[in-house]
Amino acid sequence: MDLSNIRHLLTQQTTDFLAKREHQLLIDGQWRPAASGKTFATVNPATEEVITQIAAAGPEDVDLAVKAARKAFDGGAWPAMKPAERQRLLLKLADLVEAHAQTLAEIESVDNGKSAGIARAVDMALTVDFFRYMAGWATKIEGSTTAVSVPFAPQAQFATYTLREAVGVVAAIVPWNFPLLVAAWKLGPALAAGCTVVLKPAEQTPLTALYLGELIGQAGFPPGVVNILTGDGLEAGAPLTKHPLVDKISFTGSTEVGKIIGHASVDNMTRFTLELGGKSPVIVLDDCDPATAAAGAANAIFFNHGQVCCAGSRLYVQKKMFDNVVSEIGKIASGMTLGHGFDAAAQMGPLVSQEQMDRVCGYIDIGRSQGAEVVAGGGRHSGKGYFVQPTVLANVDHNKRVVQEEIFGPVLTAMPYDSIDEVAAWANDTPYGLGASIWSNNLSKVHRLVPKIKAGTVWVNCHSALDPAMPFGGYKQSGIGRDMGRASLDAYLETKSVFIAI
Ligand code: ADP
Repeated sequence: MDLSNIRHLLTQQTTDFLAKREHQLLIDGQWRPAASGKTFATVNPATEEVITQIAAAGPEDVDLAVKAARKAFDGGAWPAMKPAERQRLLLKLADLVEAHAQTLAEIESVDNGKSAGIARAVDMALTVDFFRYMAGWATKIEGSTTAVSVPFAPQAQFATYTLREAVGVVAAIVPWNFPLLVAAWKLGPALAAGCTVVLKPAEQTPLTALYLGELIGQAGFPPGVVNILTGDGLEAGAPLTKHPLVDKISFTGSTEVGKIIGHASVDNMTRFTLELGGKSPVIVLDDCDPATAAAGAANAIFFNHGQVCCAGSRLYVQKKMFDNVVSEIGKIASGMTLGHGFDAAAQMGPLVSQEQMDRVCGYIDIGRSQGAEVVAGGGRHSGKGYFVQPTVLANVDHNKRVVQEEIFGPVLTAMPYDSIDEVAAWANDTPYGLGASIWSNNLSKVHRLVPKIKAGTVWVNCHSALDPAMPFGGYKQSGIGRDMGRASLDAYLETKSVFIAI
């Protein structure tokens, strides 16, 4: 890759890491090429240039990695480790990620296209906090004692309690929009609970997971506790989800692939949690300052170039303010500077891949052909790189594809509404239910609206705020289960009931 124009901005570690000739798989504590010898290229979406070659895992590597994770779970240093020791290792890993945050942010930027500054301030900061938060849970896993009656044995007495036990080998399959952060959402609770992991990053953005693999080794996790397989969904992801020695799958990605994984899981009774797509509404009530609402709505859709599962992609504004708010957002969108992740002036970067750019531009064309008015943007940004203009579509019928389907890019559809009941019905009228935001200072209206919204997170006067302690996940087709918070730990634990006749 020609890094010459940004080389002076990169740390030496980033340059050295990217210059590696081949990035290998981490299996049982060893870095090794794919059994097939195959590799694939990872591309910088800002320049369309190949960054480096990555080992392409296939079924044979999946089998080796799962068996290594199984062996590490069933015997050796890991199961013998006390909770306090697991906590210490996770804290050490958090410290290492913090110490390498700049390098990780730079690698994420080159691989994904996002701003290195934002990657550091958001992705890396949350990753560090999340590992620390989950480290704390390692020493707080508790069962319960219960006084039982056992009605068919009135003379007998029992001591009864529940044990929480690690579920076993976890397959963690993650997407490309927040590559390291979402990997941490899976690794944190899995390791706190005492599970072992096979992590498969997305084929578009494998690099930070591999760097993390090096830090996991430095932190002192025993071999086989975390294995990392780079490769695509069909050759590496699918065999992982079907492997009989995997006990739990934790997936973040599209609803389409989530359903395939759900079906595969049930065949082996593998436990699964799925964090999937969204089409999150942004609801502006008429007591709002239009400029504040417009700035909030613009940020809700354009953050991370719209490649956020909870992006605010449907805007509903009360009729009398509609024109005002939409023209403000149009001005914000038209004034945004696009550029690569190291350009300090850039407010938005490229989409992750050619495929994603084509898909998003295709949706803009569908919107146009179905009668949408293009208020801002409307297509590919000129020049090299997978840049799409921040786009605002207005006056689209509620049932049209650009309102109903997840676009996963910087495309906002804006619709006016009359009443709270009408907007609540529209907000819920897609297959998804991941997030929603309400913009208002009218407390009684906000409190009446929040319970009506079918979504895993409702934000008020903010959007996409996340914290390690707050569960994140979807209603309806946005998923099953939660990432983050205590709720996510539960998904990596089994409950064993113990009866002792005394
Ligand atoms: P996107 O469409 O945004 O790329 P995907 O849901 O296709 O999202 O991908 C998310 C993750 O799922 C990636 O790591 C990808 O390789 C993986 N994946 C894709 N297809 C499958 C599959 N059939 N089985 C398991 N994993 C898959």
